[in-house]
Amino acid sequence: QPLLSVQNLTASADGTTILRGVDLAVGAGETHVVMGPNGAGKSTLGHVVMGDAAYDVEEGSVVFDGRDVTDLSPDKRSRAGLFLSFQAPVEIPGVPVSSFLRAAAAGRAGVGELKGKQFRKRVRELADELDMDPAYLDRELGVGFSGGEKKKLEMLQLLLLEPKLAILDETDSGLDVDALGVVSRGIDAYRRAADGALVIITHNTRILEHLHVDRVHVMVRGRMVAEGDASLVARIDEHGFEQFEQAAPDAA
Ligand code: ADP
Ligand code: MG
Ligand code: MG
Repeated sequence: QPLLSVQNLTASADGTTILRGVDLAVGAGETHVVMGPNGAGKSTLGHVVMGDAAYDVEEGSVVFDGRDVTDLSPDKRSRAGLFLSFQAPVEIPGVPVSSFLRAAAAGRAGVGELKGKQFRKRVRELADELDMDPAYLDRELGVGFSGGEKKKLEMLQLLLLEPKLAILDETDSGLDVDALGVVSRGIDAYRRAADGALVIITHNTRILEHLHVDRVHVMVRGRMVAEGDASLVARIDEHGFEQFEQAAPDAA
């Protein structure tokens, strides 16, 4: 039984159907990639798997770690071991990154139980592992963050919470070398520490060059239209998504 099993998932926002019968199965410790043109529904899939209330599940289910989580709150899914990276962290002037991480870990087994001093030590260790300047931890949350600094927050959360499955939704815009390095180091550390599964949503294939990819899924207009091994990434790099467009019936 896979760790994550998305079955026939149909979901809408504001009465408009976005996902149309999506299936996705991810085994423990595996790395999957979801690719597809802009507007295909990739980010929506991530949000629906995480339980974002902006979307309505019309049909289908999300089963995680042997449990049907389709109706659970995002917070309960997070505690069950699901993680979704957030593209744009909120800006909270006056709240340092370290306090935000403390709040994110609160109430969890393990890291949430650490006393203040131990917790700060743990966070500093992780920052060190990511090759980050510890001064970053005192920065005000989100305020004036560069692309690379947003990624650092994402990776710190990932390493701190050690989810069983992390969905990383990359921005469409190219990551700079700094951001790319942060993500690569973060993913490596996450895999080493937690042997966690990954679902990487991207159409930037550069991030995949350093990764062992188990499975690639192609999404077009709310449907999964192709699936294959890592060689699919190179095919998409060379020929784009047009080759799959025909496989996707137009939205009714
Ligand atoms: P992708 O990540 O593949 O670029 P998205 O999942 O962001 O695609 O969006 C898929 C489609 O669903 C787009 O047409 C987008 O405008 C629409 N959509 C996504 N989220 C919402 C929402 N909360 N409300 C209304 N429409 C949405
Ligand atoms: Mg988009
Ligand atoms: Mg997106």
